[in-house]
Amino acid sequence: MKTAASPASLIDVRNLGKTFPAGSRLGFGKQTGGVRAVDGATFTIAPGETLALVGESGCGKSTLGRLLLRLIEPTEGEVLLEGNNLVDLPAARMRAMRAQVQMIFQDPYGSLSPRRSIAQIVAEPLEVFGLVRSARERRERVAELLTQVGLSPTFMDRYPRQFSGGQRQRIGIARAISVNPKFIVADEPVSALDVSVQAQIVNLLQDLKQQRNFSYLFIAHDLSVVRHIADRVAVMYLGRIVEIGPKKAVYGSPSHPYTQALLSAVLEPDPDAAKTRIILKGDVPNPAKVPSGCSFHTRCPIAQPVCKIERPPLAETTQGHFAACHFAAPNPIPVPPAGSGTLTPATASV
Ligand code: SF4
Repeated sequence: MKTAASPASLIDVRNLGKTFPAGSRLGFGKQTGGVRAVDGATFTIAPGETLALVGESGCGKSTLGRLLLRLIEPTEGEVLLEGNNLVDLPAARMRAMRAQVQMIFQDPYGSLSPRRSIAQIVAEPLEVFGLVRSARERRERVAELLTQVGLSPTFMDRYPRQFSGGQRQRIGIARAISVNPKFIVADEPVSALDVSVQAQIVNLLQDLKQQRNFSYLFIAHDLSVVRHIADRVAVMYLGRIVEIGPKKAVYGSPSHPYTQALLSAVLEPDPDAAKTRIILKGDVPNPAKVPSGCSFHTRCPIAQPVCKIERPPLAETTQGHFAACHFAAPNPIPVPPAGSGTLTPATASV
């Protein structure tokens, strides 16, 4: 079976899933149910490739990012890094493997210890993995790393509180790249920052990737943020990937109605560009009670009776472009016209 793969993979994710226990405990110690946070994630990431993972808050994208690094243990599935299944690695081997897989966190305020100097924060992974042998070498490496992320080495004896949000995110990036990883999960790395600073951080991540050939999983809730940095885009809804493909295909001819709705909310650089905003009905369903069939059917503007019953597989629509919709191209059903009650001119957010 053909899967949502890029040509040669650094990361190979197979049927990865996570169910969190949920609900109150009954008197006999039984769980009343569970939240299926990630369900059947299957994709690859090539060396030097950026896969952007987008979707609304609570759709499971941060959980998926953490599963890849085994910061959360999956319920099932595999995560292969150059053929080694990280899920099965004993703790000691996984610790050694952590030099190759790093994370950049969303919150540059919360992810840096306020009591540690910038030199201590950035040097910590170097010490953990035995990559520096003396205090002098440590300071030299920290100075190089700060320069690479656009900060002055003279800052290294200061503390996080003395920096702006963008500067703190640069410090977090210096820490993540210090051990020269192959793969980085960047979990909403710019969403806590001012809009004016977001582009600078995205550009920095892009430059670093080009210099060092990292692969990224770049998590964001906004398709406009990932447009610049992504090579491929995956869209997630209620724990499942509903569309994945090359950036050009996903932005140019989105196959899944959910992706179409997300993209219709993205502002175009050209103010004269005509666009119909797709307003989705209702709220995202409770993840503990995922709707039957296609989980998007309760909000989909073109849902049909079959959608309530049968879950659509993630199927190829054009080369390398997959969507989980019974009516995705090449046999799409027509989208209702503007003003029909499901599609309206742009006024509200998705
Ligand atoms: Fe909409 Fe049905 Fe496609 Fe789901 S399968 S996205 S409900 S048309």
